[in-house]
Amino acid sequence: MKKITSVCPYCGAGCKLKLVVEKNKIVRAEAAEGVTNQNQLCLKGYYGWDFLNDTRLLTPRLTQPMIRYQKGGKLEPVSWDEAIRYTAERLSDIKAKYGPRAIMTTGSSRGTGNETNYVMQKFARGVLNTNNVDCCARVCHGPSVAGLQQTLGNGAMSNSISDIENSKCLLIFGYNCADSHPIVARRVIKAKQNGTRVIVCDPRKIETARIADRHLQINNGCNMALVNAFIYTLLEENLYNSDYVAQYTEGLDALRDTVSDYAPENVEDITGVTAKQIREAMRIYAAAPSATVMWGMGVTQFGQAVDVVKGLSTLALLTGNLGREHVGVGPVRGQNNVQGACDMGVIPNQFPGYQDVVDPQVREKFARAWGVDPALMDDQVGVRITEVPHLALEGKVKAYYIMGEDPLQTEADLGLVRKGFEALDFVVVQDIFMTKTAEAADVLLPATSWGEHGGVFTCADRGFQRFEKAIEPQGNVKRDWEIISLLATAMGYPMHYRDNQQIWDEMRELCPLFFGVTWEKMGDMGHVQWPCPTLDHPGTPWLYEGNRFDTPSGKGQLFAAKWRKPAEVPDADYPLVLCTVREVGHYSCRSMTGNCAALQTLADEPGFVQINPQDAERLGVTDRQLVWVSSRRGKVISRADVSERINQGAVYMTYQWWIGACNELTQDNLDPVSKTPETKYCAVKLEAI
Ligand code: SF4
Repeated sequence: MKKITSVCPYCGAGCKLKLVVEKNKIVRAEAAEGVTNQNQLCLKGYYGWDFLNDTRLLTPRLTQPMIRYQKGGKLEPVSWDEAIRYTAERLSDIKAKYGPRAIMTTGSSRGTGNETNYVMQKFARGVLNTNNVDCCARVCHGPSVAGLQQTLGNGAMSNSISDIENSKCLLIFGYNCADSHPIVARRVIKAKQNGTRVIVCDPRKIETARIADRHLQINNGCNMALVNAFIYTLLEENLYNSDYVAQYTEGLDALRDTVSDYAPENVEDITGVTAKQIREAMRIYAAAPSATVMWGMGVTQFGQAVDVVKGLSTLALLTGNLGREHVGVGPVRGQNNVQGACDMGVIPNQFPGYQDVVDPQVREKFARAWGVDPALMDDQVGVRITEVPHLALEGKVKAYYIMGEDPLQTEADLGLVRKGFEALDFVVVQDIFMTKTAEAADVLLPATSWGEHGGVFTCADRGFQRFEKAIEPQGNVKRDWEIISLLATAMGYPMHYRDNQQIWDEMRELCPLFFGVTWEKMGDMGHVQWPCPTLDHPGTPWLYEGNRFDTPSGKGQLFAAKWRKPAEVPDADYPLVLCTVREVGHYSCRSMTGNCAALQTLADEPGFVQINPQDAERLGVTDRQLVWVSSRRGKVISRADVSERINQGAVYMTYQWWIGACNELTQDNLDPVSKTPETKYCAVKLEAI
């Protein structure tokens, strides 16, 4: 029996654990002493591994390369040589015929690790010569990255998960940490026990609302109006830190002007909460000696999400809650390595280390290091994954190489996404499971899973953590970066890496932000937070020390914007608002957690639709009754979960399930900056069956 150190693959909390292995089978997981989790795990950490042992899975593991030679034909098992030859030939043909930008690629925010994401973006940029590389950050915290880069300079949490409990006020906005990051929720409870004031802004009575000093049970779709009213209150009641604002920020006059119509009394109808509640919340926030703003996808999955992120960081700037311990802004990233995927440049506008693709000197640096002619490097920002269906239907994207993502389950408006896939000439899926997207592939490239390889993840607080291989994989599978390297080599760009560390060192040499994060330092410290620019640098637990921001002027940028209504509001035909949410026992498209016995027992039935008792009574629906939920885009079956925790006029569904898949209903109104879809708001109707 041996114990292997790993990092949980199920959320950005980055909990350390030990996988106990006997005869190449995992027998249990034990909590380990990680910086973020302090010897604790949630259910997914304890029980989220047994898909690695069991071959009798609900969703089959991919164990053999396969090719569908003809559209509409069957997937046939082939050798690795044939799979690589065929894929390289098809991608080369499409590149030659339609140009590099006709090919889209994805990295993965899941168990594959940072080194693979680095190699994938190198393949896209250096071999295919396109910036068309993206990841699921686009559909979750893309607005956090874009918004924070504009106001503060870095698109990440400014503080540390371990420091949350030391803050004297937590403003938790659109973030259900009890379901999304249970270990972070424990820190919130610990903070509360230590006397921290807790303010929750959320349309549902979520778990954290039960312990909150103030719960603003807001209407769905009001975020910008509420943030503007918060800013208005800070300015009008002189609650802001005028010395800090004068010294370290820019844009106060424009800010005053923008929020001048947003007195709390003016937005009661939009927000659904009273002016008194809004004013009291800001008085508590501003009076705290240290305060932290945390948010989740209740902020980012809206068509005006980037504006709201900038507004939330403005609250911190106005009150001087940045640049020191126990304060800050925290977009808590959802998937375990979504921060890392962005760090490694699987985003269409930046190379690894957040270096802009439109900067000729940056392009030249990467091209020279990779042995690529700089003239071949794409000089334009690439395509985002949410734009692919539209561009495929327009004939502009012809091929899609998808690694560890399941857009046919997790993206908004699945009917549109399916049409986009049907218009593509060539789809390659590299994954561990036969997901919905894998079923639509022309080529399947089976990869090793978390547990079967090692690497580095970045948790939500910018901390790099190494994880180790626990067991030998079953089946004819390869590591993700090996597969990409074989493809690159077959396409005429020899790519040969010895191991993960060699890839990591190549990445470090090109990224000043990460240069000091050596393999050994991660081994010694266990958790190294960027920026870490030199070999003797210990990492950075909180950003902006001395209140020097990484913006062009070095000052924090104050920001507000006029509130915009969501794109599709309820009407007589579709009178309810649908909002998508998470459930604690399952993760993302559920391919991993849905194949773990204990988690499957916890939630083993396709989805639910949460509805308020008054709405349920009006519709003649009782608790646990089967119902149809429909929007202008689709209709799904679900089961009613009648709950007092829900506002009247809104219903809530999780997106993990194939039956009752709520993304059949959602719509893809995109934020104009981040191109993130408004999956938190569309109009639906509900009918009893
Ligand atoms: Fe895993 Fe997140 Fe649970 Fe920690 S909180 S054990 S990282 S799912």
